[in-house]
Amino acid sequence: MNFYETALYQIKRATKVLGYDEATVEALLAPKRALEVNFTVKMDDGRVKLFKGYRVQHTDALGPAKGGIRFHPSVDFDEVKALSTLMSFKCAVVGLPYGGGKGGVKCNPKELSESELERLSRAYIRAISQIVSSEKDIPAPDVYTNPKIMGWMMDEFSTLKGYNDFGFITGKPLSVGGSEGRVSATARGCLFVTKAACEKLGIAIHGAKVVIHGYGNAGSIAASQFAALGANIIAIADSKTGVYDPQGIDVELANKIKAETGSLENYPHGEKVAPGDIFKYECDILIPASFEGVINGNNAEDINAKIVVEVANGPITPEADGILAKKNVIVLPDILASAGGVTVSYFEWVQNRMGYYWSPEEVDEKLEKLMYKAFNEIYQLKQETNCEDFRVAAFAVAAKKIVQAMKDRGWV
Ligand code: GLU
Repeated sequence: MNFYETALYQIKRATKVLGYDEATVEALLAPKRALEVNFTVKMDDGRVKLFKGYRVQHTDALGPAKGGIRFHPSVDFDEVKALSTLMSFKCAVVGLPYGGGKGGVKCNPKELSESELERLSRAYIRAISQIVSSEKDIPAPDVYTNPKIMGWMMDEFSTLKGYNDFGFITGKPLSVGGSEGRVSATARGCLFVTKAACEKLGIAIHGAKVVIHGYGNAGSIAASQFAALGANIIAIADSKTGVYDPQGIDVELANKIKAETGSLENYPHGEKVAPGDIFKYECDILIPASFEGVINGNNAEDINAKIVVEVANGPITPEADGILAKKNVIVLPDILASAGGVTVSYFEWVQNRMGYYWSPEEVDEKLEKLMYKAFNEIYQLKQETNCEDFRVAAFAVAAKKIVQAMKDRGWV
């Protein structure tokens, strides 16, 4: 099953619990609009290079499509379709008035200079500009894109329109309509849903052993957030280096080294291991924060955690889900556990529309409320329907909201 087939499979599991008819399920599965673009970028050495990009809008039943833009060598149409589908369910599960969208450009940003990256970002926005806007489809950061890139993209789109459209994209720098708390939002949302789950399951975060795979924005900030609550971060890994230290990683130092050198290689303490090896360590909370499919049939059996919190999109394959369920490992699914980012993106868009900006405390308080509410809704549906796991319950909560809107609009 590839990533897109997996997303469809998860939706079908949920619609079975809800007993939807075939036509409704079909309408829920199919992406509403998909665009493939080819565009050229002038490289620093004078060559012209062709790049391929995508923007997919899975649904807009609940509101404009919403979701990030990924720059990565592995980006392809199926991946963007899968990610846009997951965004519909992610937004619905938290109760945001959005559908799901996602974009991507097949490229390796690590091989581009800053000016090449800027030209590529602007060219991509020109190529997709017909189908996005603050009313139609609102992009944001995703893997290997960041606030600086969002600033360029907002500027390019605003230039095309002839006026400043801050609400066209979220995750922007604060100076151009960004929101307080957006950079840490994904990690913060993950912390809130983990807290909500741990309260129900009787697991204490203070003193809990935590393993984090993936050390980008979400993973590194999650490490400091959990450490601040007294958790013991025993293993971390980025794409090249794993670090294991049962005494606890010095998160502040690790984050400093990662920020300064772009890697964990020079972290001076603990034991260096292969990134994939850190999945096997016995822990209370395992946080996959890297990429889809990293926990699969080959390594799920080795996992020795009480609870796995998916901060990445789609890190656990269905086969691995089955293995973890047999081992009684609880999984908090991506569409819930990684929803903090898009939730604060929503707050950013609301602030842009009002032209009135909130304090960091206000953003955090609102985020906490929404994440707890979403967890409790999922928990309740899981109890009521007696369904197998939190993933199917989360997809069912989201599907109910999307299908209700589809019904009320006369689509099904
Ligand atoms: N890329 C993030 C995600 O997958 C954030 C999307 C957004 O803020 O719109 O949830």
